Amino acid sequence: MGDKIQLYMEDWLYNSGLVGFYNILKNSEDDVVINQNYLEFDSDCLIEIEKKYFDYFIKKYKDILSLNKIISFEDSISYHEEKGFEEFDKKSLEYTNEYISKVVKKQVKSNSYKSAYNLIGSSVDILGLEKKLKKIKLNKKQEIKDILPEIEEKFNLLKQIIEYMKLEESKKYIGAKNVMYTVINNGWNGVCFLNPQTKEKDMYIDYNNYFVQPVIDYLQEDESKYKFSCFSCGRKMNNFSNDLSFLNSTGFDVSRKSSHVWDFQNDVAVCPICKLIYSCVPAGITYFYNKGIYVNDNSSMKNAININTKIYMGIFKQNNEGKRLTYKALVESINEEYNDKIKYELADIQLVRYEDEKYRFNILSRKSLEIIKDSKNDLNKLVNCGFREINTYFNVYELVIDRLLNSQNMFTLIQKLLHYKLSQPKDCYYNSYHIIRLLNINTSFLRRVGYMKDLDKDKDIVELGNNAGYYLRRDYGDSVDKLSGISYRLLNSLKTNNADSFMDTLLNCYLYVKKPVPKVFLDTLRSEEKFKTIGYAFVSGLIDEKKDKNGGNNDE
Ligand SMILES: [Zn+2]
Repeated sequence: MGDKIQLYMEDWLYNSGLVGFYNILKNSEDDVVINQNYLEFDSDCLIEIEKKYFDYFIKKYKDILSLNKIISFEDSISYHEEKGFEEFDKKSLEYTNEYISKVVKKQVKSNSYKSAYNLIGSSVDILGLEKKLKKIKLNKKQEIKDILPEIEEKFNLLKQIIEYMKLEESKKYIGAKNVMYTVINNGWNGVCFLNPQTKEKDMYIDYNNYFVQPVIDYLQEDESKYKFSCFSCGRKMNNFSNDLSFLNSTGFDVSRKSSHVWDFQNDVAVCPICKLIYSCVPAGITYFYNKGIYVNDNSSMKNAININTKIYMGIFKQNNEGKRLTYKALVESINEEYNDKIKYELADIQLVRYEDEKYRFNILSRKSLEIIKDSKNDLNKLVNCGFREINTYFNVYELVIDRLLNSQNMFTLIQKLLHYKLSQPKDCYYNSYHIIRLLNINTSFLRRVGYMKDLDKDKDIVELGNNAGYYLRRDYGDSVDKLSGISYRLLNSLKTNNADSFMDTLLNCYLYVKKPVPKVFLDTLRSEEKFKTIGYAFVSGLIDEKKDKNGGNNDE
């Protein structure tokens, strides 16, 4: 032992493992040296690394672990006890019952918790406590004060359960189970403690046996005579036994292979050191409700560590504020990290997302970062906008960033938003003011990618189009009901890119109100992009009354 080991940056997956490995050791205050494109650590760091491994995940994801959700009720218990239950009302009762059934009972008797109890050296019959714990009933004739003895009794049971969950060994083993099934299994699966048939029930020992001991053995061998080379680091090795099939979605599983999935060669094998590094992939990627995000800045080890730390902090800061906007955290971290570099020195950076058990890739190009930066004000207005589609809520901000990262324009999104606004307004949390923001962002995008080059001299086409719609709506007066059918027709012309039928409908409208067609529509014939920009701005003015800057009633 005591060897210095260097690990060099490679592809994004290996790099995420390096970042994760660094995070794990740093969390335990081990010394790791960050060099330009490699990490250097002393092999003594491997001592008790299984503990360091789990400690890191348990600490990093403490806010979302069910163990901590159980413990967090403690404050509420002591609050009510101190106040002599004076403020305990029907709402508190509802909240307590919800906690009892959806948090405590559900978790305490789950298989993953049950398998941890055997490892915890406590004589408390935790499952017996769970059986005794029932929801607190309040019938119609009763007041809270009538059932106080029962509330106190249930609180006593809860206190015993929470005491158990606070044991050092509970944190160690239940915490480990929590992170295994909510975090680590997003990165790899099927082997070691994530193999359902594993013989070793203690995940710490299992990790050590499976990932660490082979490294220690390997370091003591003389590898110079070995024939094979490690796929990742090039070190010599004597067999092909360590493949990468334990990593999720890396292309080994042929049935899942698709062109969007990262393609990995089938015959790759790695040395025990690299296998250990790959086991740290989930410590490098930031996971949030089954989605993962990793920015592969391979310009240096330091940058790779910094940007991903920022993203983690940003996402969990938002989570604590009750938001789930992954892209917003991403955009803010990137702005903060690269603000000064965007204009001059920034090379394209790879963004890796883990979604629906697949990896997806985008390039954070200078262009898209510039658009995001330029559109900051418009984008920030969209943070609270969204719509419901069947049973799913979509946030407009997140959809817009997704499109920008994929270099797609916003027209189909705008089409959808306007269509929903007409057909199912109750499910729409936005108004025409927000559509205008979206058209501004889109115009900025189109200009950057080379369309609408003459935009500077007609930069107000969005506003002119929107105003025309607004005034036409006003001119319709009592016949305003007719506008819904007209709007559908206009949207259809825009969708099918049919400028002739759009102009037909438009002419009829202006004939009806006996006014000339506004000049801005002459522009629509110049290009598809202009036609759609003016057209959508017009329809949004037509179907929605103009709201003030704060967006009126649909802003929240
Ligand atoms: Zn290797």
